[in-house]
Amino acid sequence: MPLSTSRQQFLAYETNADPDIRYGRKGGIFISTCICISFIIAAVVISVLVGLIVYYISYFKLSQTSYDFWGDEVEELFSQQDEPSPDLRLPLHISPSFYRLKIKADLDKSYFTGDVYITVKALKNVKEIILHAQDLKVNNVTLTEQIYEKVETLHSRKRRDTGNETTAETIPTTTTNETLTVNETTTQTEILSNATDAQEQNTTESTEPTTLNPLDTQVTHSNLRNIRINSIQKSTGDRLIITTDSPLSLNTDYTLQLSFEGNISNYLTGFYKSSYTDVNNVVRNMGVTQFEPTSARAAFPCFDEPAFKAKFEISIAHPQNISVLSNMKVATQEPVDEDPTWQWTHFERSVNMSTYLVAYVLTDFKYTETSYLSKDNITKPIRIWARPALISNTNYAANITPKLLMFYEDFFGIPYALDKIDLIAIPDFSSGAMENWGLITFKETTLLVDEKEGLPYDKRNVAIDVAHELAHQWFGNLVTMRWWTDLWLNEGFATYIEYVGVNHIEPNWRIFESFSQEKMSLLHTDALKNTSPVSRKVVDAGEIAQKFDEISYSKGANLIRMLNHTISETLFRKGLLIYLNDWKFQNAEENDLWAAMSKSVESDPELKTLSMVKFMNSWTRQAGYPVVNVIRDYDTGRVTFQQKLFTSTNDPHKATAKQIWRIPISYVISNTTDTANTKPKVWLNDKQLSTELDIRRDQALYVNVDAVGYYRVNYDQRNWELLDEAIRTGDFKNPMTKAQLIDDAFNLAKVGQLKYSYALRLSSCVMQGDDSKIVWELLLNNMSFLKHNLRATSGYRYFQDYMRKLLGKQLEKLNYGLDKPKDDNEAFLIDNLIMWDCLVESPRCLKWVRDQFEQLAALDDLNKNPIPSYLRPIVYNIAITHGGRREFEFFWNMYLNSTDPNVQNLIINNLAATREESFIMMLLEKSLGDIPKQYALSLWNVEPPVGTKLAQNFLIENFDRIYQRFTQIDSFSFAGVLSSTFGFITSTDELEVLKRFAIKHKQQLKPMSQTLQKIVDAAAVRIAWIKRHTNEINQWFQDFMKNSSEVTPTPSSDLTQNVTISVTTPNGTDTNTTSTKT
Ligand SMILES: [Zn+2]
Repeated sequence: MPLSTSRQQFLAYETNADPDIRYGRKGGIFISTCICISFIIAAVVISVLVGLIVYYISYFKLSQTSYDFWGDEVEELFSQQDEPSPDLRLPLHISPSFYRLKIKADLDKSYFTGDVYITVKALKNVKEIILHAQDLKVNNVTLTEQIYEKVETLHSRKRRDTGNETTAETIPTTTTNETLTVNETTTQTEILSNATDAQEQNTTESTEPTTLNPLDTQVTHSNLRNIRINSIQKSTGDRLIITTDSPLSLNTDYTLQLSFEGNISNYLTGFYKSSYTDVNNVVRNMGVTQFEPTSARAAFPCFDEPAFKAKFEISIAHPQNISVLSNMKVATQEPVDEDPTWQWTHFERSVNMSTYLVAYVLTDFKYTETSYLSKDNITKPIRIWARPALISNTNYAANITPKLLMFYEDFFGIPYALDKIDLIAIPDFSSGAMENWGLITFKETTLLVDEKEGLPYDKRNVAIDVAHELAHQWFGNLVTMRWWTDLWLNEGFATYIEYVGVNHIEPNWRIFESFSQEKMSLLHTDALKNTSPVSRKVVDAGEIAQKFDEISYSKGANLIRMLNHTISETLFRKGLLIYLNDWKFQNAEENDLWAAMSKSVESDPELKTLSMVKFMNSWTRQAGYPVVNVIRDYDTGRVTFQQKLFTSTNDPHKATAKQIWRIPISYVISNTTDTANTKPKVWLNDKQLSTELDIRRDQALYVNVDAVGYYRVNYDQRNWELLDEAIRTGDFKNPMTKAQLIDDAFNLAKVGQLKYSYALRLSSCVMQGDDSKIVWELLLNNMSFLKHNLRATSGYRYFQDYMRKLLGKQLEKLNYGLDKPKDDNEAFLIDNLIMWDCLVESPRCLKWVRDQFEQLAALDDLNKNPIPSYLRPIVYNIAITHGGRREFEFFWNMYLNSTDPNVQNLIINNLAATREESFIMMLLEKSLGDIPKQYALSLWNVEPPVGTKLAQNFLIENFDRIYQRFTQIDSFSFAGVLSSTFGFITSTDELEVLKRFAIKHKQQLKPMSQTLQKIVDAAAVRIAWIKRHTNEINQWFQDFMKNSSEVTPTPSSDLTQNVTISVTTPNGTDTNTTSTKT
């Protein structure tokens, strides 16, 4: 398999052993000294080999699998097997090239029937065809062999007429005539037209979309030879196994025809039903598909793996008053013979694509239309669809979509591959959006926004989601990962490019600050004991859904950004173009991308020796990330850089602890004319590196410019002090620098690698006010860890006092949010600061919320909401948290009476913040039925300690109901329930409860093992932290508040104490080097 080939390749790169040493030296038997030497050599060789093998095995295991869970008992059940389960993959010897898919969908009866004709080829003489089908009743299966003869068709005539020389002049079709198994003439014609298509694929590489009506294709003199089918068996892993009487021949097209039927699902995957209530209070049904990752098989039998790309020709029969959309343009429509109120909609033949990207939607929606002129000089229509009542909220998406498409065409250098694009807002939708080629489906709240009344966050979410899904039209759709192992290639890229896209259309948002903020949050989870590599083996179908996590999305995006800054934007884009052109309409894996990037840097004298594979695979195939320790010799200017795993656990897995990354290091020295540049000046490819820098003893050294590198940095004590000073004096002006230093300091302190006093002192640098959103966001994120853990300690009030003081000046500068913010970023900042003022229960803030709520509650018409939109989340949340029955019922009714999904969404996300136990129980009960499926998980947004305690008991007592409900909604939601319920554990008692619960339900929880591991690891960190740091930190806040009359805090006595950085000497032993303030 290509997968294991590439892994071997990587393992080969990892060894430094000379192949001669490993495999040579076989002689030397006849002379005794030689025998002796050979034995020694053999012994050495064997031990080296054994060592290497052990290293490989442990490396392979650790880099590809989850680690132990929480002890032996559970380990057996949750740890991954090394070998993929036998039903995970389809055999490669049958390859589909074309699907003719006909579906008749009855929304009222929630039922569909279908026929699919799949053109397949055998690559081995096998007697077995295995494909996927899930919850489908398969009624009839036939297999026919097609032997072609040259016959003129409309297709070839038309192309030749238009001067397209690449197309074959004639298309061969069937001639031999044996048992005909297909009786209906219409079906036969269609099969023949498939044969034409399949053959055409072999003779031409043309990928131009055809404008020809596919039904006009005429093929004459064609017959089919029936292949006798022995058995049709349903098997594990959703497999349908068809065995034939005689082996299939090579290089022959077969048409596999299956008739099937199924229910339109009530959940949010496969072909499912969604509905909404229109203005006349009539419930309107619609049919929607959501296939990624493995649900195409629930809609029609297919080879449901990303590498089985094929062309699709889809026809759907439906009532005439409904419109149908699919990936491609409508080719033609015709009445259904048996029922004049129904019609067939036939869509054009698609480009080569994976099954998970197929889509069709049946609705009575309206649309806003726009268009753009594509790079290939075609005006391509863009339509934004929504239910009629919300059509005015489509304007923003209609405004940005053409801009983004044009930008991406330039950025990628390749035109968008299809002739049209539809974006549609679905009332019931599980994830944020889905990138189906040419027909992108969204949750209503991620596509629609009321530009006047909507929240700034709503608009930003729309921009981000639209930019993400459009980026997928290239990364994911045009070039697709070969298997889910490389899902990060799809999601990491789309995530990175979404920021590039949004930055282009909304430059004022400074969206890359948010990117960095997300990265810093990710660094928390990626430091947990059992984090996993970006590229990791999928050995069980249940694990596919777990791959859709922040590691694939956000870490993938960060590694791509690091690559971009390392090799320069120009070479990065050149590499992308090579990659996309080499792999378009095909499947690739990560090493194919590195190969393209290597090609791109060949011309650069500095970079041409850079081994892209070694560099990037050290990041994608190893779990976690490093901290770079920077130790300066202030007399000589010599600087030592060292790397080691950054982890929040005291007992990391041995093999992860030994990992070495290839780290591009950029730096800036304070008080110089040096401009901050993210391009690496030094490479740290080993454990340690020393180098002489032109730096004076009073200058600060700042490493990892703009936090572009995916690592943390620790410094010796003196340099931390110089950095603190440089920030306060404005020597380092970039807010990102300040934000990054604060985040690194807090996280180093959290794991005992830096004194907390340093981090806390750094936090006080905003006390005189700071206008930067990113600085506050990162600071407050770290404070929220403290807040949560100190909440139940005696010194919590000092923390509250400190926070109020910290926020005070800036809130005053912003007039407590009473002035209209000058832009969205300021609105985000105000939102965050006021929220925090309320979270630490500042009387001023709580009173303000009460006043706002009373104003709202007094209204006759809630459409006249006086609260500025950006402040509504705070008012709703705090009023629910601190209020009682009146507040809760007010918002509950507001939710029930609203028809605006953004309003509903905002309320539903905050309801579970209530501290009233009976309401929490009511919400948890409602999540099991009496609420739209997409909101069910939001009702579990409970707050610790009251909410989480109730949720834990509720989950333990009603496990089966809850498990059934959420796993049926989709494959991601139940993991969300686990995170909400157990994600805030701060005591060993609670941890025990979780362990007992997990062991009891181990079989069902297996597909969520990674989520559980993270929850347990994070809980262990929190429990240890509370024991270790609480007193010290409370004391710091108390001391600080005592001295609070001072405007700027002078360094506390802690700052003159020694700080310890673990230094590894060249011989590999750990010593503790201390440096004292001079
Ligand atoms: Zn995506």
